[in-house]
Amino acid sequence: RSKHEGKNLISFFDVAMQQKADHRIQIESQLRIAMAENQLELVFQPQFANNGTYISAEALLRWNHPQQGMILPEAFIPIAEQSNLITLIDTWVLEKICQHLKEWQEAGLCFGHIAINISSKKIKQQSFVDEVKKILQGVGVSPQSLMLEVTENIFIDKIEIIIDKFKYLNDLGIHFSLDDFGTGYSSLAYLKDIPFQQLKIDRQFIRDILLDTNDEAIVETIIAMANKLDMQVIAEGVETVEQFSKLKLKGCEFYQGYYFSSPLVNAEFVNLIS
Ligand code: C2E
Ligand code: MG
Ligand code: MG
Ligand code: MG
Repeated sequence: RSKHEGKNLISFFDVAMQQKADHRIQIESQLRIAMAENQLELVFQPQFANNGTYISAEALLRWNHPQQGMILPEAFIPIAEQSNLITLIDTWVLEKICQHLKEWQEAGLCFGHIAINISSKKIKQQSFVDEVKKILQGVGVSPQSLMLEVTENIFIDKIEIIIDKFKYLNDLGIHFSLDDFGTGYSSLAYLKDIPFQQLKIDRQFIRDILLDTNDEAIVETIIAMANKLDMQVIAEGVETVEQFSKLKLKGCEFYQGYYFSSPLVNAEFVNLIS
């Protein structure tokens, strides 16, 4: 009997794994079509200062699937990251954001800087720096308008090469933000070597900041560290006025989250900054 069950178990896992692989292949091929057929778009979540004034925004990817409707990045970015597809998406985002920046620039809008999320795979590509430069120059937007958000998994390897790239792009005027800070592969030693201009406190620490004194202590420490290292600090996932007040009290500088605004489509965002 146990032999029989064992066999069923194996075939159950085989089926599940096959389904997962099929799903991945399907998403990948549909994503390639999505890029070619303009199903992808960027939405913009504004970021605010202590006094409630608009400062900057983060561009976030959305997939308007012809059958499934709007798909959030969680459902496709992790899959794209398993192959080189993510690097094509990153290029698409870079080109797209530059077109938006150009348009807003020409309309005389004050958007501050716009942050985009770039995968570690993309940054590690040999051609990355040249590509960024070429796209910016090609469209004619100023590098100061762009901030690049990367996560801590950038620290895993090839650190010297990454430092060089960051420095080069910094010199051009592009700033870097360390996204989801505190959740990944952190080594504080790297923080001092890699020139980040901003630390972004992950929303998991913000969520329970009023309930969990450990979260409160972590947030306090991140803010103090950012100050000492001369980096800007921004909290993501701020959902309530109580979280905002607490963060303000702790000396946080910038805020992003549903309490202030959800991500906005282009027309809404333009309306906000007009
Ligand atoms: P992230 O960079 O940490 O982006 C913040 C996510 O938190 C966004 O989800 C945003 O909509 C969500 N969010 C904002 N405010 C709140 C809040 O108050 N409460 C809660 N619970 N959530 C909030 P989104 O747009 O689904 O993006 C998820 C992740 O997908 C991003 O996390 C980023 O890692 C990745 N991603 C998004 N767009 C891109 C992109 O263009 N390129 C790449 N490579 N990755 C992207
Ligand atoms: Mg981000
Ligand atoms: Mg984040
Ligand atoms: Mg996050």
